[in-house]
Amino acid sequence: MEYRKLGKTGLEVGVIGLGTEHLEKKRETLDEVLRLGVEAGVNYVDLLYIEPEYWEAFGSVYRSYRDDLAVAAHWGSGPCHELEFSRNCFEGILSHLGNGYAEIGLMTMAIESDETWNGWAQEATEHLQRYKEQGRIGAIGTSGHNAKIAIKAVESGQIDVLMFGINMLNQDDAEIEALCQACVAHEVGLVAMKPYHGGTLLSVGGEPSGITPAQCLAYVFSLPVSAAVPGPRTVSEWQATLRYLEATDAERDYRPVIGDLHGYLEGQCTYCDHCLPCPEGIAIGWMIWLVDRARVGVTDEVRGWYAEHQVKATACVACGECLERCPFGVNIIAKMQEAVALFESD
Ligand code: SF4
Ligand code: SF4
Repeated sequence: MEYRKLGKTGLEVGVIGLGTEHLEKKRETLDEVLRLGVEAGVNYVDLLYIEPEYWEAFGSVYRSYRDDLAVAAHWGSGPCHELEFSRNCFEGILSHLGNGYAEIGLMTMAIESDETWNGWAQEATEHLQRYKEQGRIGAIGTSGHNAKIAIKAVESGQIDVLMFGINMLNQDDAEIEALCQACVAHEVGLVAMKPYHGGTLLSVGGEPSGITPAQCLAYVFSLPVSAAVPGPRTVSEWQATLRYLEATDAERDYRPVIGDLHGYLEGQCTYCDHCLPCPEGIAIGWMIWLVDRARVGVTDEVRGWYAEHQVKATACVACGECLERCPFGVNIIAKMQEAVALFESD
């Protein structure tokens, strides 16, 4: 394992870290993933879940590896940033970790908009600053998807760690380049989430794309990131990630892939939204993301997300405007029909 400085936190973290969002919620899976990770030298773990039930169920598993880990405990969750809830959950996590301490207190999705950054994130920062002064966390971080606000957060001097989506699909993205430079200049530890773009880089229509986890990770590690946190669902997915450590230079070489990403991903939606605007107002990328997500099960949660969209896939009139703009040759009309079949038929 290669270790890198996590900005100015004083921590050295293995380049491969662990994201826990998608990991199947079984104690034996978490235990095996942590065991394999720690044996391989993984020491950075992002702890996305804040709910007391999660920590009741899994706290003791984390505690058994606690001495080997630097953890990012989240403040607030995607659906709820309410102050009392966030604080109570954060206290719960610190106590479940066994030593009342987290290396990083990380605000969940605090940089999605100016409103979130200037609003609840400032309030959360004040609280986390107090935890830091009391020695109950070592550093303050945030996560999110908006590069412009992320740069603002990095330049504010208020955060020590930033978790942001970085992968091969950003190769020509000037904003991501500026974000990397800002992190270097301000000594903010950059943690790359979604190094496989949620698995999109690895498979097309359920078949292997020809791009490997080792190539995806090697690309991310060619940038000034401290660590990447792939989010495996299973032990075997985690093993596929850890194989990077044994991969040869030739197996890690991402250059042939990055030169022909559109070829490798022909037909696969990357949710980039280059196909918009749809004259009927369909959020095409979101619709296809929901269809892809439904491949592992049409859960009530996925149905709920679909229901939240005012303009449904049924609005598609097959005009074909989007097809001309999609760089990946996705059969968008067929995807809209699939969405209707999945979510709008009984
Ligand atoms: S359909 Fe094509 S353009 Fe639209 S989000 Fe998917 S990949 Fe991007
Ligand atoms: S084909 Fe359907 S989804 Fe595409 S732009 Fe036309 S109406 Fe929108």
